[in-house]
Formats: sequence, C-alpha cells, structure tokens
Amino acid sequence: MAEWNEKPYRADQIFTWVYHQKTVDFDAMTNLSKSLRQHLKDYFHMGFPRIAQKTVSADGTIKYLFQLEDGENIEAVWIPDNRRKTLCISTQVGCRLGCSFCLTATLGLKRNLTPSEILGQYMAVNRDLPETEQVTNVVVMGMGEPLDNYDSLVAALRLMVSPEGLRISNRRITLSTSGLVDKIKKFQAENIMVNLAVSLNATEDATRSKIMPIDKKYPIAVLLDCLRDYPLKRKRRLTFEYVLLRGTNDSHEDAVRLARLLKGIPCKVNLIPFNRFEGADYEAPSEEALLDFQNYLISKNYTVFIRKPRGADILGACGQLAAQSLPQAIPQ
Ligand code: SF4
Repeated sequence: MAEWNEKPYRADQIFTWVYHQKTVDFDAMTNLSKSLRQHLKDYFHMGFPRIAQKTVSADGTIKYLFQLEDGENIEAVWIPDNRRKTLCISTQVGCRLGCSFCLTATLGLKRNLTPSEILGQYMAVNRDLPETEQVTNVVVMGMGEPLDNYDSLVAALRLMVSPEGLRISNRRITLSTSGLVDKIKKFQAENIMVNLAVSLNATEDATRSKIMPIDKKYPIAVLLDCLRDYPLKRKRRLTFEYVLLRGTNDSHEDAVRLARLLKGIPCKVNLIPFNRFEGADYEAPSEEALLDFQNYLISKNYTVFIRKPRGADILGACGQLAAQSLPQAIPQ
C-alpha cells in the first residue's frame, strides 16, 4: 500500500476482507476505492487450491487431493475425533529427506509450496466443510519436511496465528519435523510458539540413520541437546513421534534406551504403529511389542499415546501421503 501511495490502514482493510470475510473477489471490497480495487485486480488474483478429489475413510477421515496451478498435486487430511477436527497439511510437493518408511519420500522433492498454498489448504477445507465440522487444530505434518521450506512455512504460520490473519491459537497448531537442528534453532527465534513435534523413530544412530538419512547430519545426541534448550511456555511440552517398525526399532531395549534418552525433556511420546503401503519394506509391530513399549515408558513416568491409524484404508495415515488418485475417490 505504501508503494502505491495508499494509506497504511488500507492494508488492514484488505487483510480483513481476505482472512476474516474470506472473500475471493476484489470487487466485494466495498470500502476500497474503485481505482484501488482495479489496481489490485491488475496485480493479484485470489483463490483457493482446487480440490481435485475427496476420499472418505470408513472412520470418517477425509483425504483432500489438491491440484495446484502448475498441475502439481498435494494432499491434506481432515481427521475428526469427537469435537476436535484436526487438519494435517502439506508444505512441499514430495520431500527430499528420504525416510525409508514414508511413501512421500518416493516422490523426491518436486518443489516447495508458497505460503498461500500452505494456508490455502486450511481455507479450502473449511470452505468445503459445514459449520459444525470446521477445523479446530492444525498439524503441519503432511507431505514434506516443513522446516526445509522455511521461509514459506514461517510466513504461513504467522498468518495463521496473527489477529489480522486466521486467528488460530498457537496452542492448536503443531509443527512436525524430522529434526533439522539448525532450522529448529532458527525457528525458536521467530517466537511463533506453536507446538513442536519431532520424529525420533530410533534410539541408536546406527538404526536411525538407516531409516532417516537426516540422522547422519544431525545425530540423536545433537538433536536432543538442541531440544533440551528449546524454549517452552508454561505447561507446554514437546512431542516425540516414534513410528514402530517390527524388528527394527520396537524392542524392549529400544524402549529402555528411549526412556533414558528423553530424561529431563518435558515431553510426551506418540507411538505410531507403521502404516503399510504397497512396496514397503516394513511391517507393523505386534500388539504385544507395542503394548510392552508403551507400558515400559509409562512405568518411567512418560505420557505415552498410541496413535490410532486414521484413514489408513484411503492411504491417509501417517507416512502414506503421495498425492495419488484412488479408485474410491470422489472427483470434485
Ligand atoms: S517422514 Fe516426513 S521428512 Fe521423512 S520423507 Fe516423509 S515427509 Fe519427508
């Protein structure tokens, strides 16, 4: 607005139209002059990512396949759980981190999403859903490593939490990372204060570096040192995600090591039984191993949840996103 010699409050008015009124039509911005509206139309366009397909799981989870303007596809997953409606959003088309248990990794990195494409998933899903089903929580955990698309991620998160933007409480947003230590440190300084979840997935570097190549750059000790210093608001904790792979990282000894490693870090642990996909080299843990793992950690006073696989029948569960068309999808 300054560049166009407009008053600064015009920017506030435009923000209100876009993020509070959710208008996609410059002509609807009736408190702006006709010439400013025309100017905006000449330079910008507004819209939502196109919902190409919607697939509904037997458990009520909905997977949205979005087609972006350049034809690339991404996915977001809406997960209802009583009053909580969580939306898992993507930050990249594909991912370059190559975790061996993740279907997204097989795509490689095609490109980063822009801030509007990240936010657009949230706005488009809410627009598609009835008032009673609107998203209450956001997890940035879909396709891609969010911190590998740092600038767009930060811009999108600022717009999500800002009072002029989408006004989502930072307590209701969780950023998930595979552990890019330098970027975690940089992110601390942004002071956005969303929840942080870290995919640990192993208790020894020999195993972790095999399933998550990023471990070679940031080994477990370096990652945990950085997290010990991570600033947390009162009563907030970090989350450690641990995908259990049968015979790889699900032994009792792993549980013992994990309890030792996390000592002193205010945290909770999410155990995620591996969600199979075609061509995967891994199996889910046995029920026995899963419960033993959980019980041991509980006995050491950790808060531990077993993450129910949601949307696994539509390849919508953790590690299963690859922006593929599915036969049971509803074309939009
Ligand atoms: S688990 Fe996350 S970081 Fe690893 S390859 Fe998949 S999308 Fe990328």
